[in-house]
Amino acid sequence: MSEQSVRQTEEAVGATTGEPLIEVNDLKTYYGEGGLVDDNPVKAVDGVSFNIERGETLGLVGESGCGKTTLGRTLIQLEEATAGEVLFDGTDITQLSGTELKEWRRNSQMVFQDPESSLNDRMTVGEIVREPLDVHDWKTSQERRARVRELLDVVGLQPEHYYRYPHQFSGGQRQRIGIARALALEPEFVVLDEPVSALDVSVQAQILNLLEDLQEEFGLTYLFIAHDLSVVRHICDRVAVMYLGHIMELGDSEELFQSPKNPYTQSLLSAIPDPDPTSDKDRITLRGTPPSPRDPPTGCPFSTRCPMKIRPEEFQDVDDDVWVAVEVFREVVRERTRADRSLTDRAKELLGMETRYSDIDEIRAELFGDVDVPPSVQQHVDEAADYIEHNDDQQAREYLRDVFGSTCDTDSPDDYAVSSSGRTSLCHRHQDEYEAPDEFTPYAQR
Ligand code: SF4
Repeated sequence: MSEQSVRQTEEAVGATTGEPLIEVNDLKTYYGEGGLVDDNPVKAVDGVSFNIERGETLGLVGESGCGKTTLGRTLIQLEEATAGEVLFDGTDITQLSGTELKEWRRNSQMVFQDPESSLNDRMTVGEIVREPLDVHDWKTSQERRARVRELLDVVGLQPEHYYRYPHQFSGGQRQRIGIARALALEPEFVVLDEPVSALDVSVQAQILNLLEDLQEEFGLTYLFIAHDLSVVRHICDRVAVMYLGHIMELGDSEELFQSPKNPYTQSLLSAIPDPDPTSDKDRITLRGTPPSPRDPPTGCPFSTRCPMKIRPEEFQDVDDDVWVAVEVFREVVRERTRADRSLTDRAKELLGMETRYSDIDEIRAELFGDVDVPPSVQQHVDEAADYIEHNDDQQAREYLRDVFGSTCDTDSPDDYAVSSSGRTSLCHRHQDEYEAPDEFTPYAQR
């Protein structure tokens, strides 16, 4: 999307009141908790706290699977919160049920990502937009029909579209139908879940401009979930960066994009292609994929991939290539402890026979074969490999954490204020004793 194609209205940015509409306190959404087969829950949202101001657009970004859609759905009670509170105008909506919850639902709506699948193809556009009015028994049927015509006009559709079916429309028009449906009951808060990512670039700008116009006209408050960071930069007042169920950094959008403070935000933003071919912008390549939210790391959620992770004092001088190999080795061992083992493998283990998991020498050769490993590191790698050869992966994992781990592996970081505008970042590096020196280069990119 070109920078010019999205209107950046001063009004949209300046429409916030500074007064919170939504206050989220230590919110958790877990799945599968306490089940018969699986009592190890998926921690999709794992203790997040933030406010959304009345009239603002708060962006929510992060890699897929980081929990952003679950968070959006929990805020409007489409998912049940496991713990924590969501105060909407002072009322904790996680405690509402029955009629109270139904009544409250008028206040908040969701626009979905895929306009192809989020509309029922067997219903006319009029029926789709009218559905929330019918569910809430809103006024008379004549008034409902009039309201639908008004909404079609508001989102730029024609009165004759009332009796047409979704398949007769383009992607952009279908998203307009979804927006009209979301606005039917005059909500104050709308969760926009990747509302333009399924649309052509030329249509994205039209829908974003429509959303901005509607926000201004009706005083709406948006949570804008997206993975396209350039869209977020233009439409959002503030941005929350999410990783593995946690908010890593949250603050003013322009400030955050210009000078990200959290190592994860820095990694995420460095992946945006620079339109200037002569730019010497450093790119940070993250290792691997995020860990499973069923088995998140202890300490910092980003600790298994962080290119700025703090090292223990005694390994400060170890060559970066060796240190990366150590981190990858730890990750491999960690994954082994999570891997499902067949009954045959378990039986072989019990009998002391070799299993397909006993290929640790190969992994060691692969990781450490081309680097000069100092004895202070080698002895611990050998010890861990020994545990693995004896089928004690868990012990190896713990041993490696004890020896090579730092505060990033053991302690959950706090949120630190990182700018005068109230931006916060979840990272130990903001403590004086761990602050990265100016010339520090994230080691994974070397
Ligand atoms: S706490 Fe450690 S692992 Fe987490 S982001 Fe900061 S430096 Fe990286």
